[in-house]
Amino acid sequence: EPFIPKIIDVNYSEGCGDRQWSSRDFSWTRELEVNNKKVFGNHSFRPNQREIINATMKGCDVFVLMPTGGGKSLTYQLPALINPGITLVISPLVSLIQDQIMHLLQANIPATYLSANMEWTEQQEILRELNSDYCKYKLLYVTPEKIARSDNLLRHLESLYFRELLSRIVIDEAHCVSQWGHDFRPDYQGLGVLKQKFPNTPVLALTATATASVKEDVVQALGLVNCIVFRQSFNRPNLRYSVVPKTKKCLEDIDKFIRENHFDECGIIYCLSRMDCEKAAEKLQEYGHKCAFYHGNMDPAQRSFIQKQWSKDEINIICATVAFGMGINKPDVRFVIHHSLPKSIEGYHQECGRAGRDGQPASCVLYYSYSDYIRVKHMLSVGMVEQSPMTSGYSRLNATNPGRLLETNTENLLCMVSYCENDVDCRRFIQLVHFGEKFDSSTCQKTCDNCMKVTSFIEKDVTETAKQLVELVKLTGQKVSASHILEVYRGSLNQMVKKHRHETVRLHGAGKHLAKGEASRILHHLVVEDFLAEEVKKSDFYGSVSSVLKVNEQKVRNGLFGGQRIILRFPSSVKASKPLKCDLTPARGSLTSAKLNLPIDIPDEPQTEVDLNLS
Ligand code: ADP
Ligand code: MG
Ligand code: ZN
Repeated sequence: EPFIPKIIDVNYSEGCGDRQWSSRDFSWTRELEVNNKKVFGNHSFRPNQREIINATMKGCDVFVLMPTGGGKSLTYQLPALINPGITLVISPLVSLIQDQIMHLLQANIPATYLSANMEWTEQQEILRELNSDYCKYKLLYVTPEKIARSDNLLRHLESLYFRELLSRIVIDEAHCVSQWGHDFRPDYQGLGVLKQKFPNTPVLALTATATASVKEDVVQALGLVNCIVFRQSFNRPNLRYSVVPKTKKCLEDIDKFIRENHFDECGIIYCLSRMDCEKAAEKLQEYGHKCAFYHGNMDPAQRSFIQKQWSKDEINIICATVAFGMGINKPDVRFVIHHSLPKSIEGYHQECGRAGRDGQPASCVLYYSYSDYIRVKHMLSVGMVEQSPMTSGYSRLNATNPGRLLETNTENLLCMVSYCENDVDCRRFIQLVHFGEKFDSSTCQKTCDNCMKVTSFIEKDVTETAKQLVELVKLTGQKVSASHILEVYRGSLNQMVKKHRHETVRLHGAGKHLAKGEASRILHHLVVEDFLAEEVKKSDFYGSVSSVLKVNEQKVRNGLFGGQRIILRFPSSVKASKPLKCDLTPARGSLTSAKLNLPIDIPDEPQTEVDLNLS
């Protein structure tokens, strides 16, 4: 199973020897291997599965970071089968739970779940069974709301605990605990109560997406002490990544791309709004593709019909919002196209991760325009972006601090913008930095657009231009857009610009000598670096929005005018004879998961007016 990368980092808690968890000499080893074959039908373990199982069987708290499809479920389902008593599994979505239980029952493993929308009598039946001396269930799944809201359930768990029948607590999709993650679920934060009430029951937390800060958050909120962290590389060597300028002919471009590279193959096109999905599907059908759309506004029967058709290859392309994808295990997805800017790098990584599960090459193409950033930002601010099913209906309603949530969203989005505008660094490198993973770009082997370029770069000090641009924003009264600023700076004489001419006469045309695109790169860099802030305004009732640049006074005073230099990398005009070796040091400063200090380029002029297409 080629796509699963090797272990890159296993942190052992105090007193644990290096190879301890790989041992085949545990008292349960034989039973483990027999059941893995007989009950689950697996010939062997995948990377890290044996180690995780041993650690949790030993009674340690364990935190697992493993890419989607890596096989996390087995690491608690197998122990659940072997241990006496019952394993409690917290999972965010009833549909995911039902899917798991179906598989467990097929394998003759007694499992059940409790959720708020279940019949009262049915719930009572299950609770009664939990109370019995010979409880038949090995696994009990619940949603986090159930833990937060049901004292009755907690009492039953206590009773299990004191009878030593609560063998393990599993927190699936554990990143939902963290507000820094892309799938925050407030009720996950209350799960710390489990460790308090059941200190002797080992906890196993599982996730496919966690940055270093998310991991810290989760460990803390769950109250895990001395927990053992198993982390494996999130790099997916068989996926090829590229970012392509998005033009008005985007759908034609997509058609051409599929025709030339993946004709009649299976793929997903992620769109921002429901209307985008429908439009894209319609257009691609016209072009002759077997294509359908999928979004949260369709009824469940319709959705599952489309998903089944796709699974059976009756249609090969699905134009979907992020509502599509959870629990989808189709191995031969050959491409994932992003028609619009994703909301975060984590989300992007996960969405791309649905391609190439079979280990064969697959393409991930992102169509990017700066105007999409404005559009997504606006939609986030008014809560109109369709959420992944994991969080929909939760984060917005229950957020403890909506302001902070919006801030986090905007920060995540800006990271995505700088990912797109970066035309220098290896795409894998930038993505993996977000998971706290160091990736040696030379091992990309030219499987991303940036590594494929044969160019060399020069570093340029652009501090003076940056200062002029900030001044220009001030001179125009902090009420015009980025594209307006750029026009004035280049000396354009169009109508709107003329209006402001008298205030800006000193800097009007000051950037004439710069190469095309250079000023806009610098301007966007200033936004990404927080010297300038982009405020989105809804300008009229046609649903168009415009953005206005504001100056972050304090940051500008202390940074830009306080001696900080701004250095960006530019492609040099001389072609290098050898391919560029991306080293691990980023273009400038240090890369952190929160902010990327990276050079910026934009394919097109930024647009002020954006059609929102809200549906
Ligand atoms: P995750 O939760 O990490 O996304 P799952 O637990 O859903 O992944 O597993 C993904 C798929 O891999 C499932 O179809 C599962 O049956 C399969 N799988 C898991 N472990 C093994 C194994 N050791 N050998 C073969 N297949 C496995
Ligand atoms: Mg899973
Ligand atoms: Zn690369």
